[in-house]
Amino acid sequence: STPTPVTLVGLGPMGQAMVRTLLAAGHPVTVWNRTPSRADALVAEGAVLAATPAAAVAASDLVVLSLTDYAAMYDVLGPAVAALRGRTVVNLSSDTPGTTRAAARWVAERGATLVTGGVMTPAPGVGTADAYVYYSGPEAAFREHEATLALLGAPRYLGEDPGLAQLLYQAQLDVFLTALSGVAHAAALAQAAGVPPTRFVPEALATLASTPAMIDDGTAPGTEFETGEHPGHLSTATMMGATAAHILGASEELGVDTGLPRAILSHYERALAAGHGRDNWSAIFEVIKARTPAV
Ligand code: NDP
Repeated sequence: STPTPVTLVGLGPMGQAMVRTLLAAGHPVTVWNRTPSRADALVAEGAVLAATPAAAVAASDLVVLSLTDYAAMYDVLGPAVAALRGRTVVNLSSDTPGTTRAAARWVAERGATLVTGGVMTPAPGVGTADAYVYYSGPEAAFREHEATLALLGAPRYLGEDPGLAQLLYQAQLDVFLTALSGVAHAAALAQAAGVPPTRFVPEALATLASTPAMIDDGTAPGTEFETGEHPGHLSTATMMGATAAHILGASEELGVDTGLPRAILSHYERALAAGHGRDNWSAIFEVIKARTPAV
């Protein structure tokens, strides 16, 4: 089928990579950016720069946003609401689930449909086989544009709740950022003790690589969190809690920041207080989870 027109608003590193991917697939692409010069190279490559956000929205049924946050969406689309009716807006910007739900209502009240997304790759990964993108919101609108969106990364549709895409994006970055802080903290401990980070960090990478085995025993990862059963005696909450206390103690002895080890120790202390001492480390989930989870 003929590649359909796409409008892309927001030409940071992500938006630029998306425009190039769409152009390469033969889509006519209209762009708009608050700082117009960021469109220069893309125009040379075949994109059309719209003079205003309203003109950009008018140019295509599919309007993709790649902005810093959802506040920027209101700044851009606010003056363009007259052009919004009937459009499908796919917002791939980051924000909280509640903010994205409110935005879905705002867009719907203006006669358009909002599909929310969370892109699980940095800019160089856009359009590669490794990239995937969480989507949520009205399924019919998502399906209508799925083939085009699939060019950016493999789509993973989560459901009608517009808050889900950013929630799962943030859950993934929760894993990612926590691991990065862990490596930085560990390197600081090593350095404070006279071991250069260039010597220690390669060993930390080996630990990161072996971490999945702690979580995935080859059956169904996540089962213990779902069932609340935490069998296992090799890494009990008691043993891991003692270790967490030693990491905090080492941090104090060496003058390294204690925020992260304190937070981790508190998970184990509260799990022990709740009677999970003989359970697997995974019992910390019981003191971390929401009191009234949705599932
Ligand atoms: P940038 O911060 O580089 O780009 C942000 C874009 O938003 C720019 O085009 C900027 O315009 C525009 N913008 C910001 N505020 C406003 C405003 N008030 N009004 C109009 N335009 C505004 O972001 P990235 O390209 O890196 O990322 C875009 C989104 O993708 C973010 O939500 C980010 O969290 C997410 N993301 C980023 C990844 C990455 O690796 N970079 C990976 C996955 C997701 P201007 O050029 O004028 O400043």
